[in-house]
Amino acid sequence: MNLIFLGPPGAGKGTQAEMFAAARGLKQLSTGEMLRAAVKAGTEVGKRADAVMKTGGLVSDDIVIGIIADRIDEPDCQGGFILDGFPRTLAQASALDRLLDEKGKTLDAVVEIRVDDAALIERISGRYSCAKCGAGYHDLHKQPKTEGVCDQCGATEFTRRADDNAETVKKRLLAYYRETAPLIGYYYAKDHLKSVDGMAAIDDVARQIDQALS
Ligand code: ADP
Ligand code: ADP
Ligand code: ZN
Repeated sequence: MNLIFLGPPGAGKGTQAEMFAAARGLKQLSTGEMLRAAVKAGTEVGKRADAVMKTGGLVSDDIVIGIIADRIDEPDCQGGFILDGFPRTLAQASALDRLLDEKGKTLDAVVEIRVDDAALIERISGRYSCAKCGAGYHDLHKQPKTEGVCDQCGATEFTRRADDNAETVKKRLLAYYRETAPLIGYYYAKDHLKSVDGMAAIDDVARQIDQALS
């Protein structure tokens, strides 16, 4: 099964993609994570992406399309994947259509996670993750079972994203409404869209996604 998880920054795409991928044996592909890894590694792509990500804008289509084109060819994606944070523009969506066509793959569904703007800001301000394995947490809504210890890997170091600050978040929201929200109509017209109420608790959203895709 090949899926897209679509929604504004902080909607819960990563949280739900992580859970759904683990339950169904799919590979989660987050372009945000891949770009952050490239920035950390100091690659040419990382250098170009860094400046843009800091301001809350979108990295150029050719960079992210190139990353995804290479990544979905890897063996670990052949059993199905979840695109988390890609596509984010209409140009990326049509490039993805062409890519899948060329590779003889199909898109099974696009899961849209709907969340109010005020809740997005609150979710992003409380977001942090395990420094070792990347598992996602929230100060109020998703704390580790043992305080200060990652549920997934037992590590005790956590990090917060540099772009998860009040000022950048507004710019990321603007980029979402300008560039990404049109994809909802695009995938609705293609009969791919499944919308879920992302305002519900994490487990409830997971149940909705499970039902929508069963
Ligand atoms: P969020 O989880 O808050 O939606 P991501 O981790 O998906 O954020 O993305 C972080 C940043 O990486 C974005 O603000 C953008 O600069 C860049 N980015 C990630 N995916 C894409 C994409 N598909 N197209 C352009 N830029 C992207
Ligand atoms: P995205 O990948 O869409 O940017 P995340 O999955 O990183 O969003 O979620 C943003 C923050 O909100 C994280 O700290 C996460 O733990 C928390 N979160 C995710 N889903 C919910 C939910 N349904 N209710 C409350 N908090 C949530
Ligand atoms: Zn961990």
